[in-house]
Amino acid sequence: MSQSNLTRRDVVLRTMPALAMAGVVSLTSPLFADAAGSAPNLAGGEGFKEGKYVLPPLPYAYDALEPHIDAETMHLHHDKHHEAYVANLNKTLKELADLDAAGTAPPAFTLCGLEEDLSFNAGGHLLHTLFWNIMGPNAGGEPSGDLSDAIARDFGTVAAFRTRFSATAAAVKGSGWSILAYEPMADRLVILQVKQHDMQFSAWMEPILVLDVWEHAYYLKYKNVRAEYVKAWWDVVNWPAVGDAFSNARKRYGRA
Ligand code: FE
Repeated sequence: MSQSNLTRRDVVLRTMPALAMAGVVSLTSPLFADAAGSAPNLAGGEGFKEGKYVLPPLPYAYDALEPHIDAETMHLHHDKHHEAYVANLNKTLKELADLDAAGTAPPAFTLCGLEEDLSFNAGGHLLHTLFWNIMGPNAGGEPSGDLSDAIARDFGTVAAFRTRFSATAAAVKGSGWSILAYEPMADRLVILQVKQHDMQFSAWMEPILVLDVWEHAYYLKYKNVRAEYVKAWWDVVNWPAVGDAFSNARKRYGRA
């Protein structure tokens, strides 16, 4: 996707995980509300319509990632788990709006609980939306162009990057993600290990490649052997989509 095709909503969706999870921007901010009118492009579907978050359709068939990721897992992961984050994100925002409407400051325990729910569910919705988009059928292989060069620069070699990214995923304690993110201050790439959907996330760092290692992402096929899932996952990585995310992130900061 070229910069000229990049909509305001693309920018928002790709930027929001870092901002929202870091608490820098509220999902109820005008920035996000303004984005609702333009066409999304992040996951081949829309994640926000008519004032509510919605489950975007998968950008491919449920069995498209076979044999690496099975269709039943994709059905459950997308239709049930992702859907739950969408529903709970809307519910959380409604509860926060109701508190605002009451006109008095809510008790700290109420507010802190809802803020935690907001971070968790917004992270769940946005990360899964990106996750579907950076995978695809007939994918895998190697990154190319500027992305390949940046990976080699920041991790030594593409092979070294894959080794550390996989190890980061394997080492997640419980539920979480391994994330390749763009850090604009140094104009470089970093690997983040994120607990659940939000904890250990860093402000402004923008995810461009994300790997879900919650058990719901792999347990039906790979049981307890997460490393086998991670190994197979590389064969469904849609590197052109990751390259687009990388170049778009750099352009927004005037780096390209
Ligand atoms: Fe998941």
